[in-house]
Amino acid sequence: VSGLVAEAVTLLSDLIRARSCNPPGDEAAPARVLGAYLRRAGIAFDVLEAAPGRANIVARVRGTGGGPSLLLLSHLDTVDADSGGWSTDPWGGEVRDGSVWGRGALDLKGQAAAQAVAVASLLREGAEIRGDVILAATADEECGSVRGVQWLQETHPAALRADYALTHGAGDRVQLDDRTVYFCATAERAHASLAVTLEVPAALPMLVDNANVIVEASRFVTEVAGQHVAGSLIEEAAAAIRALTGGEPAPAGLAAAAAAIHPALATLFRPLAGATLVPTRLESSPAAGRLSTCAIDFDCWLLPGQDQCEVEQLVVDAAGGAIRRLEWTPIRGGSRSPTATGLWRAIETFVRQVDPGALLLPLCDAGMTDSHWLRRHCDTVAYGFFPMRDMTTAEAARCVHGPDERMPIRDLALQVDFYRHVVGALGRGEHD
Ligand SMILES: [Zn+2]
Repeated sequence: VSGLVAEAVTLLSDLIRARSCNPPGDEAAPARVLGAYLRRAGIAFDVLEAAPGRANIVARVRGTGGGPSLLLLSHLDTVDADSGGWSTDPWGGEVRDGSVWGRGALDLKGQAAAQAVAVASLLREGAEIRGDVILAATADEECGSVRGVQWLQETHPAALRADYALTHGAGDRVQLDDRTVYFCATAERAHASLAVTLEVPAALPMLVDNANVIVEASRFVTEVAGQHVAGSLIEEAAAAIRALTGGEPAPAGLAAAAAAIHPALATLFRPLAGATLVPTRLESSPAAGRLSTCAIDFDCWLLPGQDQCEVEQLVVDAAGGAIRRLEWTPIRGGSRSPTATGLWRAIETFVRQVDPGALLLPLCDAGMTDSHWLRRHCDTVAYGFFPMRDMTTAEAARCVHGPDERMPIRDLALQVDFYRHVVGALGRGEHD
């Protein structure tokens, strides 16, 4: 274990021990740990609190000028951990069997540690940095970033301003038989809630063909819940499938085309065929002799740029005239960044260097990340890329928010190398 990796392991262990489950958050505890590390490295920083204890830590290292600025973004809060199912203390930060163990090791204190150590070590070596490098470890990501990135963007709009940003969302090594792929999250789906009220005329309750509102609602929900296919294929999915097969499927064939390349791709691409409607609440009031109503709420996930009218039409058609009310909350998310950028090229050269022959491909995140706030407020080119090689995607999915969360030390080392590579390459102007 090299000196830099040992430094990252110690920092990650200390961050895990500074418990910060959200709710309630208490990001001030890990912010003190990270602040102490930055202070020792001679890096000035601000602690910005949306509420007492809800600390966001932001350090802007000024560049000499002439290059793109780069934000390295992580978050300091974690979800809770009940000790059942854990083979170690989730708040212990234990180093054992080649990993650092504990809640937040992967999500996302490992990223905070790797980013800080990468920047501190480059500065120590006197590396050239032309554009500003901003280190930000924020609060409240696990509960929608209301006291984190969203609050920062609204109250301190200059704090996170950057040309480029790197955060989480993708980056693990995917082995497809004889090919190796790393996905970089360049886009995300959009979210809105949809409230539908159905109204069905009253009928005599003892009749066989009673059009009860509950029967009607269950038929309607069964018809619209789940995945729908959009009119066109989103560009990120088209680019990835083209790179892997040379062809491009019709939108309805996306999931099958991905599964045919490799089963591991099916889960990634299935949500990208179109909008997903997830029923979240259902409340009915059948009343004898009067109109009966049923209120149904849906979580709706749309493709970036997709018009919600498409989904609305589908809902209206399925309801067959029974809709009394249909109401959307404002759409959030759904942003994307281009791939023809210096940041993309810097990631690509890293991937080729550590994994010769591997492909870097764009991916649209099925959900929403903090990249949304960055793209929306500062027009930042924001990517989700956090390389993982030792731990498989399936294993990471099991332990993020689950028991025995841990960061393999070799992956932490890869991440320190990654951030050093990108900050160094952009700092030297290699990808202008
Ligand atoms: Zn999380």
